[in-house]
Amino acid sequence: PKTGTYHSLRPLAPLPPPSAPLSVTDYIFSHLASHPPPATATALVDVSTSRGVAYPELIRRVRSLSSSLRSRLGLSRGDCALIISPNSLDIPVLYLSLFSIGVAVSPCNPSSTAPEILHLIQLSRPSIAFAMSKTASKVPSPPLGTVLIDSPEVESLMRVVVPAGDPDQIDVSQSDTAAILYSSGTTTGKVKAVALTHRNLTSMVAGSYAVRAARASTAVALCTVPYFHAFGFTYCVRSVAMGETLVCMGRFRMEEMGRAIERFRVSHTAVAPPVVIAMVKGGSVMEGYDFSSLEVVVCGGAPLPATVVARFKDRFPNVQLAQGYGLTESTGRAFGTVGPKESAVVGATGKLVPDCEAKIIDPDTGAFLPPCKVGELWVRGSSIMKGYVGDEQATRAIVDTEGWLRTGDLCYIDGQGFLFFVDRIKEIIKYKGYQVAPGELEHLLQSHPDVVDAAVAPYPDEEAGQIPMAFIVRRPGSAVDEPSIKAFVAQMVAPYKKIRHVMFIDSIPKNAAGKVLRRELSKLASLGGASK
Ligand code: AMP
Repeated sequence: PKTGTYHSLRPLAPLPPPSAPLSVTDYIFSHLASHPPPATATALVDVSTSRGVAYPELIRRVRSLSSSLRSRLGLSRGDCALIISPNSLDIPVLYLSLFSIGVAVSPCNPSSTAPEILHLIQLSRPSIAFAMSKTASKVPSPPLGTVLIDSPEVESLMRVVVPAGDPDQIDVSQSDTAAILYSSGTTTGKVKAVALTHRNLTSMVAGSYAVRAARASTAVALCTVPYFHAFGFTYCVRSVAMGETLVCMGRFRMEEMGRAIERFRVSHTAVAPPVVIAMVKGGSVMEGYDFSSLEVVVCGGAPLPATVVARFKDRFPNVQLAQGYGLTESTGRAFGTVGPKESAVVGATGKLVPDCEAKIIDPDTGAFLPPCKVGELWVRGSSIMKGYVGDEQATRAIVDTEGWLRTGDLCYIDGQGFLFFVDRIKEIIKYKGYQVAPGELEHLLQSHPDVVDAAVAPYPDEEAGQIPMAFIVRRPGSAVDEPSIKAFVAQMVAPYKKIRHVMFIDSIPKNAAGKVLRRELSKLASLGGASK
């Protein structure tokens, strides 16, 4: 279009009417029943133990666990379960089981501190937590009962025999919340709980079914991004939905990735930009491994510099580097790359995903902008969240009455419908694809006795994309220094949120309304040179 709305030209697999009861697990399992993976196909494999679970066994485990979560743990439709765990083979089983009984899955970063977890609990009000033995101590107990995922108890819950045609089958409505993920949205404030429905997830899966390429063998997918983040969350659900082999690797280590690709003949992998950067660097720990099985690397969560894309194509000419763009609030998707032709468009993050619309809006005037003009990207469709849990005001601020989600990103769409990310207008910092909300760190810094005022802004970093940098106005006479500021914050936040640069200044630049001028800060940092 010259001006106006862009529509996806990609097909969507058939979905039942939105009013029909259907959990995303039932949708996936009925597809697997009609398109069964080969009898020998492994659904899940654990990198450290090489333990594998075949598809019939996965389905049996999900049926057993669903039944015992209800009968033995008393969970019921409408409940929420907090999950605090690194990636493991048990996580997709747990997700599918909870979906199938209408319990919202709420995974969080296992590196979060106990106060951070307490805050998430206040937002999503879970009735139970699932944690690994080493993460369980972070759950405030009481009031929240905790099940250890790596305990014999869960193993036994997965072994319960469920009669065929379970008479207790419950109806899950497609508008029920299937997942609660955490995001700061477009504001600087604290984290919010993003409610995604079964419909959001089924349409995400239906989009993949429609564009799936016919393959002679089962795809082997390695998800290096965490299953708690929208990108990894959707990637792992989709991988099982597609009948692929999902290679499950715990805490990400670069060397482990090279070894896993070689050992399991990985064909597809999902990564954040720092991994692509490491893959193209000479002398990296990934060198020396056999990558000949690799077909597609999907990269998302943050921008990938065009120079890195070019180097990747030189180094891995037979591998498609497919970029995807999305937000937690859009079920992790909006634009994506399909096939080698689309992957060859350097700098682009693909075209609209099925059942999604987009427009580019002038942030100053609110007017539609034509192709190739830079403005704020707005998206709409079946992927857009139900809303922020318990925060209608914040929901209304990001999704308008017509269902358009304002992304807070400056982008343009070219004449062919490819998306190009330009910059972020929202104030989120993205460290290796993880969100860091400046407001949260500012709040902590302002509580320091020697700090009169503080602000936090992104500082560019080759490896991480951006790092959080603090601008501090010291109390007169105070000698508080950079290491003590860094240590003060580090003890209270998950490691990815740490302050990595500090600059001491006389006053924080603000506009007349008292709003921090973060761009001015970034300018100051680049002029003054950040002190390491
Ligand atoms: P999250 O909710 O953590 O997925 O963060 C969403 C934000 O990540 C988007 O609004 C973008 O700012 C950024 N983002 C995600 N994918 C990309 C991409 N392919 N290129 C550039 N930025 C991205």
